[in-house]
Amino acid sequence: MTGSKPNGFDDHPKEECGLFGAFNVPRANHVIYRGLFALQHRGQEGGGMAVSDRKKVRSIKGHGLIAEVYAKREAASLKGDLGIGHVRYSTTGSTRIQNVQPLVVECADGIWAVAHNGNLVNADQLRRRYQEYGSIFASSTDSEVLVHLLADPRFMNGNGNGRVSGALSELQGAFCFLIMTRDCVMAARDPHGFRPLSIGKLGDGYVFASETCAFTTTGAEFIRDVEPGELVIADETGLHSHRFVMKPSRQAQCVFEQVYFARPDSVVFGQNVHKTRVELGRLLAQEHPVEADVVCAIPDSGNSAALGFSQESGIPLDYGFIRNHYIGRTFIMPEQNDRTASADLKLAIMPEVVNGKRVVVVDDSIVRGTTLRRRVQGLRDCGAKEVHLRISCPPITNPCHYGIDFPTKKELVANSGDIEAVRKFMGSESIGYLSVESLLSPFPDKAGFCAACFTGEYPVDISGAKGKRSLESSMPLLNFES
Ligand code: SF4
Repeated sequence: MTGSKPNGFDDHPKEECGLFGAFNVPRANHVIYRGLFALQHRGQEGGGMAVSDRKKVRSIKGHGLIAEVYAKREAASLKGDLGIGHVRYSTTGSTRIQNVQPLVVECADGIWAVAHNGNLVNADQLRRRYQEYGSIFASSTDSEVLVHLLADPRFMNGNGNGRVSGALSELQGAFCFLIMTRDCVMAARDPHGFRPLSIGKLGDGYVFASETCAFTTTGAEFIRDVEPGELVIADETGLHSHRFVMKPSRQAQCVFEQVYFARPDSVVFGQNVHKTRVELGRLLAQEHPVEADVVCAIPDSGNSAALGFSQESGIPLDYGFIRNHYIGRTFIMPEQNDRTASADLKLAIMPEVVNGKRVVVVDDSIVRGTTLRRRVQGLRDCGAKEVHLRISCPPITNPCHYGIDFPTKKELVANSGDIEAVRKFMGSESIGYLSVESLLSPFPDKAGFCAACFTGEYPVDISGAKGKRSLESSMPLLNFES
């Protein structure tokens, strides 16, 4: 694995987006801001919002955390009681302001704003089709194809529901969309339900969020999830449900949302994330028992699974790693080679906890393995007698084509050899991954989940998929930024 590059400070896959929308909510800009703040873990590279007072749609967007965008960009001018917002993780070569959402466009019949979470596997084909007819794209995101579909005369003749349903039915892959006109907010989830999207009630209005943790921070009450293949429209007559496509025989909810992406206090796909992770930790302890003195989590994503491992094994849990919460996106190492060392700034090891001990380290996943390998060495430097790695998901052997930014197949450490080869690379006494069967066992509808990054069984055909990373970095784009 020599030469593989760390992914910033971290060795985890990256989520692409978080969505929050509000309808009939006074001072919608403040509510959306609070919602996006709660969803910041889903994307830290850019964000924005579009708000309507039913006459005019105003929007802001920018690079950085939503608090930075909101503070700098005259957010107070965003007056209105409905709006949609977006936080984004940008892939390599795509930190262009045009790609930050919501995308706001003017069609023949008015303003439309669009925010997307996921990855469209047929975006490239749709884009080429429209370009051949003379359409001009302003961004390099896959999300923009929906804007062109909405403006397509084939769908424009329909009413609001028929038009949006027609446009959505052309899309393949993973998507949750929030769509706004001057006087309504719509929420749609792809027919397989890859990404989560929930509906809440706030006062006399409604809110929509990628995760329910955003309802807690805004004071909203959870109503239900948007169903796979459903278009929900909030307008002055209430909340309306439409199916834009026949329900497919199989759902494919992303199991990685439960393993890593979602916040522990969220209820995702009907289950509390923290409780699921505790259960995964318990199952991990049953599958890979070990004699040891202390269990330590890689914080924060390994915390819940480590608790479950400790409870099941009887080995005490302690804080072996302390996270520096003040290291952020803006901390730039001058040399690329220094970035591996920068991982050490994020997590410090407590010698007082690990010195002379047999340590079980619980992490949620391994991608390239470079960062975790440094942790193992760090534990030894601090006097750990033995290090046993326990991972609360199976080996990641395949990239994701449904909205998660994994490195290439070659860069995944699990593809570098068998389990023993990975153990040697890590330098640990033992390593144990959770099996696919145990990973899916906490869910009543096991067949309703996607686990393609572990199994290679992709639930939606990926032959036309370019992936966000390659699509965004390959598209030439004029720079309109002033
Ligand atoms: S491939 Fe993995 S990360 Fe992608 S949707 Fe499926 S389970 Fe989630």
